[in-house]
Order: sequence, then structure tokens, then C-alpha cells
Amino acid sequence: MIENFDRLHGLPDGFFEISTANIRSLFPNPTLIQLDGEDENFLFISILLHGNEYTGLKVMQKILAQHAENLPRSILLFVGNVRAAEANRRYLPDQVDYNRCWPGTDLESSATSQMMQRIVEIAHGLPLFAAIDIHNNTGKNPHYACITDPNMKNQNLAARFNRVGMVFNHRGVSTMAFDDICPAITLECGLPGDPQGIEHACRFVEGMLTLDELPDSKPTRHALHLVESHLTLNIPEHISFEFNPEADVDLRFENDFEDRNFTLIDPQQIFGYTRVARPLSITDTDGHDVTDEILRVEAGKIYLNNTLMPAMITRDRLVIRQDCLCHLLQDYLHHEVEL
Ligand SMILES: [Zn+2]
Repeated sequence: MIENFDRLHGLPDGFFEISTANIRSLFPNPTLIQLDGEDENFLFISILLHGNEYTGLKVMQKILAQHAENLPRSILLFVGNVRAAEANRRYLPDQVDYNRCWPGTDLESSATSQMMQRIVEIAHGLPLFAAIDIHNNTGKNPHYACITDPNMKNQNLAARFNRVGMVFNHRGVSTMAFDDICPAITLECGLPGDPQGIEHACRFVEGMLTLDELPDSKPTRHALHLVESHLTLNIPEHISFEFNPEADVDLRFENDFEDRNFTLIDPQQIFGYTRVARPLSITDTDGHDVTDEILRVEAGKIYLNNTLMPAMITRDRLVIRQDCLCHLLQDYLHHEVEL
């Protein structure tokens, strides 16, 4: 069985007024909307794959209002998890994550994965210019783009959004599903609804509506600092922690630890403080424990063994326990073959 989704040609009345709370009055099901523009090489744009990340909806309302009369380029807009959006959740307990079940997923086949398969087939049947998936994240992060295939077109696409871009390889994300089809990118636009994130993504999409082509040459290091995320840092359940170096707990971080997002931390800089031997647990993308390779504890201070960049740091205790404290990024450069 395939999950029910609707198809529209043209925007429904009321599109500019809806918010996520009442989105199902207009889109009772996930909906694919074809919008014809002057250049028929389509932009595929997905929004609300995570229901609580509503920046994408605001971006498309703004852009489509500006181009109500003449859209420079055709758009295929996918409005994703409307049920979760209505409840302001990433996804609902009876659902799979809408950004982990696209073609290439490791998850077992489901009605939702079959819907995503169909969406990609429909998109693939059209001339596609690029695929853009708009998201938000938690915590203080700069806006950045994620690509799953670091080919030159994708790198140039990432550089159009920000100087820092991330290579990621979560299987089943929408961006990966478009990799063999067209340039594809995920935009991380800060906290949901952050006006600067909306503005930034609007400028990016606006630029993509009129761009002739993406260069095939490598962006300079100044234009794009490409990093990869392959380490996840967790605090074990039994370790007490505070973001206060003076606290009487097992693990302490500086108050402003969150400000270290996307900054390089070298092996001489103090990462944190501890009174136990193994205060943190670090796993690689295969789930292997690599804690002892990555960090060391000396006289109650925690150091990294290599220069790494923490990202997506959160101070939210629930998120830390359920997901992780942060990821550790490293430069993508050393994997590249110089031609
Ligand atoms: Zn997301």
C-alpha cells in the first residue's frame, strides 16, 4: 500500500494565509504541486519533511507571493508531513521519519517509502534543474547546506548558500534520492521560523530561479569549507553533567559551550572538565565506539586528539539524552583525490 498523497497543478487559494497549525485545511495529505514557470527546467523543492521545521513553508509563501504573476522557473513543490506539521512535531509516533525513507533507505518498505519512491519517479519524469530540501535544526548553528554527493555541481550549489557546507550520508534522505538525477542540497536554516534563516533561504531559492547553470569547477576554499560529519558524541546515561565549570557533577562544560558550534577545537584546547575516566562516548557512522581514539582525559581536563569542529551542539537535556550532545566534524578535503 502506498501512502495517499494529492497532486495539484497551480497553487490552491489560501496558500499565502496558512500556517502549520491549520495546514490540513488546505493540504489534508502530503501534496505535490506543479507550478509552471518560464524556464521549464524544474526546481524540486520539499518542505515540512519534518513537521516542526516550518521555515520552508514561510520561504515558499514569500517567494511565490513575489512571483504570483510570472515565475521565472517551474517548481515542483512537495509539502511533506502535514499531520506532524499540524501537531508541531518532527514526525508522529505512528509514522516513519519523512526524511529517512526516500529511495536508498535502510528502513523496511512502508507506505511512506513507497510514496517517496513515487514522488521521485514523477520528478524524474520532468526536466530537473536542482532539488532543494528545506530544514531547521535546534541550538545555535550557522545556516549551512548539506550534500550527500560532493561532486562539483553540488559543491557549487552548497557554496551559494554559505561558506561552510557539510557532506552527510544518512541513508534515505531526500537529497540522496536525487543524487543521480540532478544537483541536490539540504538547507539547514537555523531554528524554525528564525527570520534570518527565512531571509537567507529566500535569497538562495530566488537565485536558483534565474541561474543558468552551476559551474563544474571546484569552489575555492574561501568560497566553501567542506566538512563531514561522521562522529556522534553522547553523554552516557549514568554521567551527571552541567554547563558550568564549577558544578559538582561528573562532567562540566563552559557556559558558552554552544558558541563553539562550527569552530575548530585543536588538541591543546580544553573541551570540558571531568572527575571520571570516561565521561563521554563517541561513535562513528557505523556505530563503532571510537571514544579512546578521539579524546583523552588529562588531570581532569578533556582534550580532543585531533582538530575537530563540533556542530549541532544542544544544551537541551532531553535532546542530549534522546539524541546526542553534538556531532564532531572534520575537513572533507583529505579524502579528495587531487587531479
Ligand atoms: Zn529536518
